[in-house]
Amino acid sequence: MSERVVIIGSGPAGWAAAIYAARANLKPLVIEGAITEANRIQGTLPLGQLALTSEVENYPGFPTGDLAAYVKTGVSPERYLPEHTGHGITGPELLELMRQQATNFGTRIITHDVVDVDFSKHPFKMKTDDGADGGQEIEALAVIIATGARANYLGLPSEDRFKNNGVSACAVCDGALPRFRNKPLVVVGGGDSAMEEATYLTHFASQVYLVHRRDSFRASKIMSDRVLANPKITVKWNSVVEEVLGDDNPRVGVTGVRIKSLKDNQVEEVPAAGYFAAIGHTPNTDFLKGQLKLTDKKYIVWTTPQRTYTSIDGVFASGDVADDYYRQAITAAGTGCMAALDAERWLAAKNFH
Ligand code: NAP
Repeated sequence: MSERVVIIGSGPAGWAAAIYAARANLKPLVIEGAITEANRIQGTLPLGQLALTSEVENYPGFPTGDLAAYVKTGVSPERYLPEHTGHGITGPELLELMRQQATNFGTRIITHDVVDVDFSKHPFKMKTDDGADGGQEIEALAVIIATGARANYLGLPSEDRFKNNGVSACAVCDGALPRFRNKPLVVVGGGDSAMEEATYLTHFASQVYLVHRRDSFRASKIMSDRVLANPKITVKWNSVVEEVLGDDNPRVGVTGVRIKSLKDNQVEEVPAAGYFAAIGHTPNTDFLKGQLKLTDKKYIVWTTPQRTYTSIDGVFASGDVADDYYRQAITAAGTGCMAALDAERWLAAKNFH
């Protein structure tokens, strides 16, 4: 029997879609992704990118600090609920709460990757990876794609060579590893991610070199200012990373980074125990194998303004997989809600029950 709604992906967009679809009694099935080493290295584990961050400061309703104290002082006494506990929210906590909220309303979850889809016929078909309990063929009347995006690397062979051995695209996941403690580290990029990674790494590193190809940051002013004021961060302006240097021995790994100045072509080797790429993202759309219309950067195209419709009737997209502009947890959750409402109305209009 066909599922009514299948949601592929398990970041804020996926869970918001699941919460809304479940409350509309559509009994959604979420395919949350597989827990594999390949997904870990690629940054595509279940719960998505937000689960790779520490404190989330900009998701409405979750101010940084002691949440209980905030609620007590921030809400008028007659409306205060004394049972609040805890602190500000972290990315993994926020995602676990969303996942729990979705399951509380009857969402079912399978922990697999979707490896193939057939959207050419209705009901739509999806195939999952084999995994420990075997692959599954799943049919659905409506599909919501919420597979997000993953971090980019420069594409240097030496990045691949030292991945997991000093090369990373996630400071929050890997920054606290003993290999990085009290050692110089290199971050490449000039956006908010690079600012966040560089600042975070100063908690562990002796020194952070931030390599950026231009003479000004793309990042927001507040995050740039934080970096520029941090005595542990040295910015290498107008510079590119030519090579990550190191030794294949896992006890050694990365030992430095070769940087070239674009101003005078001077090359220098900066000693470093780690190299962190923070240069933007690629949407997770490979599994669609060209069945939906994509942008030139491979993001899913929303075909109707203000709607989550895609080029295939009955397939909806939400979150970063269709958004290379806002890319925030709150906007992902917002479009996840929209996709569930669009799917619900589409199913009703087609008389699918
Ligand atoms: P981004 O804003 O696209 O910035 C990517 C950076 O990497 C740019 O500075 C870019 O340089 C550089 N870059 C790209 N390709 C490169 C290459 N091949 N070689 C060298 N440098 C390269 O990406 P992001 O920093 O990941 O941020 C994505 C979105 O998430 C943004 O909207 C951001 O505001 C948001 N975000 C927010 C927070 C927060 O508020 N806490 C944290 C992280 C991210 P150019 O500047 O020269 O193009």
